[in-house]
Amino acid sequence: MNNCIFCKIVAKEIPSRVIFEDEKLLCFHDIKPSAPVHVLLVPKKHFEWQTLGADDLGVIGQMYSIAPKIAKELGVYDSGFKLIVNCGEGAGQTIPHFHLHLLGGWVN
Ligand code: 5GP
Ligand code: ZN
Repeated sequence: MNNCIFCKIVAKEIPSRVIFEDEKLLCFHDIKPSAPVHVLLVPKKHFEWQTLGADDLGVIGQMYSIAPKIAKELGVYDSGFKLIVNCGEGAGQTIPHFHLHLLGGWVN
């Protein structure tokens, strides 16, 4: 989609620090982390949570199943991590391309 930052990152028009990639999903470090570890899990297909279709549920399932694996890989699984979807500007959403935040790495 035109002017979508995440579509540009998926297309490699904007560089990112990629952690995982396959044909449907791209996972990379957030440019302005809100936690010691802050990863974004972004479907390669642009869709918005308000209008997601049945076809989009597969990649959402994949996002939630890969998240704990990424948390383990980055060493934040045992100390606990959060998975967050901001829905709407009022909740802090700035990019209207569905995505999941993985936050962790706080010292207990
Ligand atoms: P939202 O606020 O929409 O839920 O999350 C958007 C996230 O994308 C923010 O945490 C923001 O820091 C991150 N972000 C915005 N632009 C870029 C960018 O160009 N590269 C990366 N890696 N993250 C970005
Ligand atoms: Zn997009």
